[in-house]
Amino acid sequence: MPSNTEIYDVAVIGAGLVGALAARRLAEAALDVAVLESRNVPGGLAARNAGLALLGTPQPFAAIQAELGEGMARRIWHLTQENLTILKTLLEQMGQPITQMGSLRLTAHSRDADLWQKSAAQLQALGIPASLEDGTDWGYLLGLQTKDDVLFDAAELINELLAHPRITLATNAEVREIRAHPTEGKAPLTLWTRNGTVWARGAVLAAGAYAVHLSRVLGTVVHPLEVQSITLHNPETLPTPLVLDEGHVTAISVGDIWQMSGWGKQGESSLARLSEVAGSLCPQARVISRHVGWVASSDDFLPLVGELPDLPGVYTVSGLGPWGLSWAFVAVERLIELMINGSDPGLMSLQRTH
Ligand SMILES: Cc1cc2nc3c(=O)[nH]c(=O)nc-3n(C[C@H](O)[C@H](O)[C@H](O)COP(=O)(O)OP(=O)(O)OC[C@H]3O[C@@H](n4cnc5c(N)ncnc54)[C@H](O)[C@@H]3O)c2cc1C
Repeated sequence: MPSNTEIYDVAVIGAGLVGALAARRLAEAALDVAVLESRNVPGGLAARNAGLALLGTPQPFAAIQAELGEGMARRIWHLTQENLTILKTLLEQMGQPITQMGSLRLTAHSRDADLWQKSAAQLQALGIPASLEDGTDWGYLLGLQTKDDVLFDAAELINELLAHPRITLATNAEVREIRAHPTEGKAPLTLWTRNGTVWARGAVLAAGAYAVHLSRVLGTVVHPLEVQSITLHNPETLPTPLVLDEGHVTAISVGDIWQMSGWGKQGESSLARLSEVAGSLCPQARVISRHVGWVASSDDFLPLVGELPDLPGVYTVSGLGPWGLSWAFVAVERLIELMINGSDPGLMSLQRTH
């Protein structure tokens, strides 16, 4: 447990990927950081899933362009490119393997196939390596292959990030309340945990879907989204991760272990959809385990980075959604620039929701 007499420069609530990344960057900026994690181990969701950090969005570039305009579509894809660059640099610094697997986004619908065809040409024109592939081997019509997507061991990375002399990690330390009192008291922030009080000058709320319990404002701009996952044993390996149904279902294999994840469209059971896809992709595969996790999602599926209006001095990266690994690294980078230099987080700013 962190000291209850010391005043930490920053308290980070949650030791998932976002919390670990933020804590490390703050510690490297010579700040003393207390990381408070409610579970008995750090890692959060990313440490329990086969993690694919995607280049771009799971939806066709052409669909995003039609909805938001070309400039915005391009900015969104470039953010995920920057995210991959930060991730690869970090893995290199930490001496961890970089598995550049690429990915294949598949569709069975002719309308989407048209959009992917258009997208491939648009992406190539932007200098983003993307090619059209035949999807019939998998029982689909067409796919878009990108080469830069990275599969990495998030559990290893998170443990490594937290191993810094300026970071004090407390597990079994669920934060129940944050009180901000800028003008009075011992420190600007008091954090009430299950087993004591922690004082800090600032905080980062990185509690994933559970952050809404600590900030009323976050509760109005993000909502929890259920993601189901099944692990299967299948002697056949996948040469590349498959992204199906515009990212609602993902299939990733590490050797003969397949992990399939899925989240539902409104009113749809994600487990039923997942089982249906597993039945057609690998009908003979044996299901080994199943689990469910909750992610926080913003309405536009982009992360929210900013200071919480209801808790002065408390910053957040939230609303990462079911494709959080494609944003987490660049979002935390923007958070640190905001906390240290006051820079505007741009596209990901929490202020866009007010
Ligand atoms: C099954 C599944 C598969 C996925 N696959 C992919 C994928 O392939 N690619 C991809 O990009 N994304 C994927 N995601 C999404 C991705 O894992 C998340 O977006 C990302 O990990 C969120 O990270 P986070 O740090 O914000 O939150 P979390 O990982 O949820 O971390 C929050 C941490 O805070 C702790 N905590 C919560 N409340 C408190 C409290 N009050 N006090 C202290 N600690 C607290 C939690 O225990 C947890 O450790 C998947 C998600 C699931 C569920």
